[in-house]
Amino acid sequence: MKTALLEWLACPACRGTLRLAQPVHQGEEIVSGALGCESCSRAYPIVRGIPRFVADDSYAGNFSFEWNRFQTTQLDSRQQRGESERRFRQSLDIPLEQLKGQLVLDAGCGMGRFAEIALHHGATVVAMDLSFAVDAAAKNLSPQPDAHVVQANLFALPFRPETFDLIYSLGVLHHTPNPRKAFEGLVELLKTGGKISVTLYSGYNTVYVRSTSFWRFALKRLPGRWLYRLSHLAIPYYHLCRIPLLGLGFQALFPISMHPDPEWRVLDTFDCYSPTYQSYHTHHEVFRWFKEANLTGVEVLEPGISLIGGKRTVSDKRQATSST
Ligand SMILES: [Zn+2]
Repeated sequence: MKTALLEWLACPACRGTLRLAQPVHQGEEIVSGALGCESCSRAYPIVRGIPRFVADDSYAGNFSFEWNRFQTTQLDSRQQRGESERRFRQSLDIPLEQLKGQLVLDAGCGMGRFAEIALHHGATVVAMDLSFAVDAAAKNLSPQPDAHVVQANLFALPFRPETFDLIYSLGVLHHTPNPRKAFEGLVELLKTGGKISVTLYSGYNTVYVRSTSFWRFALKRLPGRWLYRLSHLAIPYYHLCRIPLLGLGFQALFPISMHPDPEWRVLDTFDCYSPTYQSYHTHHEVFRWFKEANLTGVEVLEPGISLIGGKRTVSDKRQATSST
């Protein structure tokens, strides 16, 4: 970690100020040491250069495996396809060029595919994940001076309230035991006038939801590595799914990722069947989360259930009061 990160961190248990203890430096990076809370005396270790606010990866063990196995598959800087940037642009209603100088939280960063894009456009990014994907993210991002990586739980966030200009959580909240509660925790971290963007799985395709839910139930006792091997079936099965008309039946029978890149297909198929928690949502439901969190300017974007909204400024609040 870099010392600049301290300014935005707070004790996840009591929101007290954290103090750096016994730091070991390697250039600008603090590679080990601890963060001690001035209020409640809890201590959080810095291991392999990352502050760890959790004892383990809890329900996110599959993501620890997944993102350390596929450390660079979805990274634009390695693949040169621009796919992550296109997806990131879809999930924000602001030009990425406006991220310059903004403080951004990537809530559920995985190996850092979207954080890399935000950094490229000049943002300072705090990339957070519950899983050991943070070790892959640190390898991919930490050499950049404005990148910070943290291992933490969405239900015990280690940040000061009203800290970030932009928070995004793309494809993450539906893998938590309580997506709405996780969302509400993130809103507390947003500055006045800041924006939050989330993407969740869509519940509209009931055939897909029923079929994936059935297979998840059937496969859930398999060890992660077995499931990973099985996910390779997506490589040949894809060609059956592409047969005109008949392919639709194959897709309904056993949904797989239809990405044209075989490695990406295995990754996305494993990602669909391995998580401990997986929920499906509607626009109406998530729109209500935004409205009840008193967010303004809420817009529906793509893909899946993607929405963005902002925290009201003083003038927004005056306008809302005068219009009632
Ligand atoms: Zn504390």
